[in-house]
Amino acid sequence: MSNYKLGLDFAKAQDRNDPLGHFRDQFHIPKDKNGKALIYMTGNSLGLQPKITKDYIHQELEDWANLGVEGHTDGKHPWLNYHELLTETMAHIVGAKPIETIVMNSLTVNLHLMMVSFYQPTKKRYKILIEADAFPSDKYAVQSQLRHHGFDDQEGLIQWKAPEGEELANYEDLETLLKTHGDEIALVMIGGVNYYTGQFFDLKRIAKLAHAYGCMVGFDCAHGAGNVKLNLHDSGADFAVWCSYKYLNSGPGSLAGAFIHERHAHKKELNRFTGWWSHNKEKRFKMRDDFDQLTGAEGWQLSNPTILSMAAIRASLDVFKDAGFDRLCEKSNELTGYFEFLINELNNSELKIITPSDPNARGCQLSIQVKNANKNLHKKLTEAGVISDWREPDVIRCAPTPLYNSFEDVFNLVERLKNII
Ligand SMILES: *Cc1c(COP(=O)(O)O)cnc(C)c1O
Repeated sequence: MSNYKLGLDFAKAQDRNDPLGHFRDQFHIPKDKNGKALIYMTGNSLGLQPKITKDYIHQELEDWANLGVEGHTDGKHPWLNYHELLTETMAHIVGAKPIETIVMNSLTVNLHLMMVSFYQPTKKRYKILIEADAFPSDKYAVQSQLRHHGFDDQEGLIQWKAPEGEELANYEDLETLLKTHGDEIALVMIGGVNYYTGQFFDLKRIAKLAHAYGCMVGFDCAHGAGNVKLNLHDSGADFAVWCSYKYLNSGPGSLAGAFIHERHAHKKELNRFTGWWSHNKEKRFKMRDDFDQLTGAEGWQLSNPTILSMAAIRASLDVFKDAGFDRLCEKSNELTGYFEFLINELNNSELKIITPSDPNARGCQLSIQVKNANKNLHKKLTEAGVISDWREPDVIRCAPTPLYNSFEDVFNLVERLKNII
């Protein structure tokens, strides 16, 4: 790893030598009232807009204006199979095969659709294991699935907690939970990168462990997609879901992704909800045919999708393709390592990074606990031109992303934090 140094000169030199540095200019960076670029550290919440996105969406508006319904077949990028333009790059980013990958719906919707197929409780095996600090939407979703199947949403929920006084969940505790309750657990559903701590779980290890006890395994990778190498296929998970508006820079509420492992690709008998978009593509418009299940992840689609949103995703994926996901992950490691170095060099006992220090167990986000702090700290940071994220009771989350954040951004962020504390 780098020999990081203190001082602004080092940050500037890093930026000058950064082969990906010019990608920052391909994004709209939010500005303050005086037109000065803000230090944007919330790509984990809403990624910034690539400048090309407008053109990609405009193209579809034009085709709609000029062609009307014919745009489905005669548009520059015909809408009928528009989603196919996204599959390969998206699959590459999440480490899946194209047959395992689909862009559709929104994230929590996809989580429910996956549970329709992969949460098949029986009288004896009906519980769902989730990490205690899961994103609220995920917890609400799994609890509603428990109720939907007639189970108690407290008794049926097993929570993987961090040990008393610690922030990070550990695998020994997961193993103990599975040893004790394994034969009652139908589904293990974990946030691949925890939204609060930034911990990137070992997906393969979790999947292997849970499968050994006969449980289905799913991951919510909202904080992982476009941020870390998820290697979903190799993880062996049964399913995964993610959104495209965080690290994937595709715009607020944009369509989400789903992964269904190849071993389920041809199981037409697998329980699921269906619609005309899960029906054989070749015969979709022969409206009177009996239902003919599409194979692969495409077979989980229900509706004809939002093309304007897909255009934004296509734009963003083209930027990723240009930059190269491997190179982005390398820079991400460097940038976050630098961030960690600067925080540690402050030698301030009030600050504690709760994100793992192992680069393989995190992405770009660092979650910093600030002793005795309250939301006022976040307010002051915002006034100082830093867009960061505050989580009660005392954690500030910052995610320097390799596509549009610079070493200088990170330097300035830490300087401002230091001045406020
Ligand atoms: C961001 C996020 C969500 C948000 O769900 P939507 O359905 O897109 O509103 C859900 N789960 C996790 C883990 C998230 O990080």
